[in-house]
Amino acid sequence: MTYGIEQPFTQLYQEAFVSRALDPELKLPKWQRLAFLALGRHERNGHAVFEPGELARYLGTSDSETGEVIPASAKVVDNAIRDAIKNDMLDPSSVAGCLIPPIDMVRANSGAGHYKTEYKPCPVHDVVSKAAKRARKASVVAARRRRSGAA
Ligand SMILES: [Zn+2]
Repeated sequence: MTYGIEQPFTQLYQEAFVSRALDPELKLPKWQRLAFLALGRHERNGHAVFEPGELARYLGTSDSETGEVIPASAKVVDNAIRDAIKNDMLDPSSVAGCLIPPIDMVRANSGAGHYKTEYKPCPVHDVVSKAAKRARKASVVAARRRRSGAA
């Protein structure tokens, strides 16, 4: 399978995915709601960022008498993410703070080539990357110290 522009593609209305994801009348499985939210909310960088607790509210139930939304537990949200990943409808790096549609579904701006200057860092995943960069840099510095004989 190729992931380039040579594949036929159309443009989709993201709001249609969001409205279906949040429509309680549709009775969609929770994992499918998350997949639709990822497709409906991702930005040009391919990441769909959510506020803390936002997915819990979307996957919650409403009190039949008061109509008040009872948020889903973190476990329910995590299981729905896991199921969407298992069903190949979310990228495996998806977490409650940021859902990513699979790479073969969306032609997103990876930050490479022509679009590099337009890349918007993800506040969830790119923070992890910065931490990983710091850890890598620290290990390189430690290795240099060991090689140079310093303590
Ligand atoms: Zn992200």
